[in-house]
Amino acid sequence: MKNDLGYFPQNALHNAPARVNDAIDVARARASELAAMPDKTYMNFVRALADNDAKLTELLMPIYHLDSVMNSDETKQIMNEIIPPLSAYGSDMARHRGIYEGFKYIRDNEFDALNAAQQKLVTDVIRAFEIAGVNLPADKQARLKEIAAEMSKMSNDFSNNVIEANKNFKLKIMDETKLGDMPTADRATARIDDWWEFSLLDSHYVAVMTFVTDRDLRKQTHDARMARAPENMDIITHMLSLRVERAGILGYETHADLVFEDRSAPSPAAVKTFLKDLRNRAAASAKQDRAELAARAATDGIKDFAPHDAAFYGRLVRTEQYDLDESVVREYFETGRTTDAIFDMLAEMFDIKFTERKVPLWHPDAKYYDMSRDGKIIAGFFIDLPTRETKSPGAWMNSFRPHYVDANGVRHLPKVLNVGNFPAATKDTPSLMATKDVATLFHEIGHGLHGLLSAVDELDLSGTAVDRDVVEFPSSFLEYFWNSPVTLKRIARHYKTGEPMPDELIEKIIKSDRFMRGTEMVWKTEYSLFDMEIHTQGKMTAQQIRSAFDTARPADSITPGPSYDRPLTAFMHPFAHSYSAGYYSYLWAEQMAADAYIAANGNPFDKDLMHRYRDTVLAMGGTKKMDEIYREFMGRDPKPDSLLKFYGLK
Ligand SMILES: [Zn+2]
Repeated sequence: MKNDLGYFPQNALHNAPARVNDAIDVARARASELAAMPDKTYMNFVRALADNDAKLTELLMPIYHLDSVMNSDETKQIMNEIIPPLSAYGSDMARHRGIYEGFKYIRDNEFDALNAAQQKLVTDVIRAFEIAGVNLPADKQARLKEIAAEMSKMSNDFSNNVIEANKNFKLKIMDETKLGDMPTADRATARIDDWWEFSLLDSHYVAVMTFVTDRDLRKQTHDARMARAPENMDIITHMLSLRVERAGILGYETHADLVFEDRSAPSPAAVKTFLKDLRNRAAASAKQDRAELAARAATDGIKDFAPHDAAFYGRLVRTEQYDLDESVVREYFETGRTTDAIFDMLAEMFDIKFTERKVPLWHPDAKYYDMSRDGKIIAGFFIDLPTRETKSPGAWMNSFRPHYVDANGVRHLPKVLNVGNFPAATKDTPSLMATKDVATLFHEIGHGLHGLLSAVDELDLSGTAVDRDVVEFPSSFLEYFWNSPVTLKRIARHYKTGEPMPDELIEKIIKSDRFMRGTEMVWKTEYSLFDMEIHTQGKMTAQQIRSAFDTARPADSITPGPSYDRPLTAFMHPFAHSYSAGYYSYLWAEQMAADAYIAANGNPFDKDLMHRYRDTVLAMGGTKKMDEIYREFMGRDPKPDSLLKFYGLK
């Protein structure tokens, strides 16, 4: 097979809408041809359908990717043109009677001859068709389509309303002394002339809440943030009622029951118990955090400590208690050198090797690596880490192509990518990462490995194609290692001198990382419980929803970091992203990550454990439920106390 691993099409945007439309026509015709074919087998039908999808994806992925990392009027225009025909295609395929019948034919005639992964795939696909309503009478199917269209419009509106509210607010600061200890980089993003203007965008909001010395200005900003997008309340009420209706049409009692068909957690009730237990056990520690911050604020004469003081005093107490200077820490994390050091570490952990290869990509910042094992190249890894104006915010992992074997038995090696928005180099300094950036880089590489080390033959079960509530397990697991003493000793080097990080500084990083973990846990469980609560009931009025939120998240709650501080009407996960009855997923995945981390004793070079991790969790993708894979990995279930222990709450 020719090695196309480092290949990125240089003409991906050329004539894109026409090429996509043609490709959709071809894919549609091929799907119908396969559905009508007599003598279906797993290979000539299931695998051939996957190949059909793969062809379309191969064309689409570079376009999506360029829209995210090199956004322009051209990419926006292309996306506007291709999304409607693609959604129509997706929606038709999800209810394609002939394909559904084809899968049932395979189940009824060939099931026993299939391996376990293939059996799971066939079963999953049949269930997905049934959840999409393939067996319902025409009028009900039509209603489901209407609901889907309405929901996708409402999600979009919800998100746009929040974005607008973020932009519309302006906090003007004329007096520079009020900016306190705000770092130069944060000031620069808000500078207008000889004054500063802050919006409610996360980065601005965090800077104001953490550094602005004028308490009234913080209160004003906090109040505005908590009152964002009130018009979203109507959307929430309407969305919940549509979700209840859809669940009913499909024969489920609640929306949560419906979406839990594709989850690793056993049931909505089990998740609620899990969350309540965590919250109760973290409550005392969160209370203590609050008392500590309030006591520090009192020394400044503040008698009525409030949420708008939390980030400001959180920073002060953290600095005073742990004496950790982020600007010094950064000097040990030059982005290029740190990335190389992480690759080096992964090589030792998993017996793999990354070799950079110069190939034409989409931007000079992007890099490509061949990944090999036992001297054989088995995957391609693309990274694009520095921030750019044309890049979507945040960091993510994606695959141009997962590992799979096609209908002709040809193996396709995975092409995986990691994108970040890490600090760009300036004329005086190279790109230096903050601690949160280092953690993010580990996190995304953790997802990346899930794609890179996949050994799954079935395209739709490969790599990160696992249940929503366990997809964050490999990313959290690797992230946890970023500040283990063994890792820091190995990867942190001063960018000028090359000196390793002093032990004293390592100790400070580790200690300060435990700061306010109880508050963080309580906050995560509060939002998660609210999300479970509203999706395990029938229709609710706006008032009932509001009161469920206020019960889950009392007004005097404080938060570990202000970017998490959000009102109901700006809670994107369940209403704008597809995390309804799913916000618990992070904690659910973290219990496995924490358990495995504790078993490794924080040592990334525990070879025996890491090799088992590679050969089970990373290799097996979604071929089995994650709890089964976990038992193969560790020989047992995660211990219930591991997560609290990792958070330092036990
Ligand atoms: Zn993640």
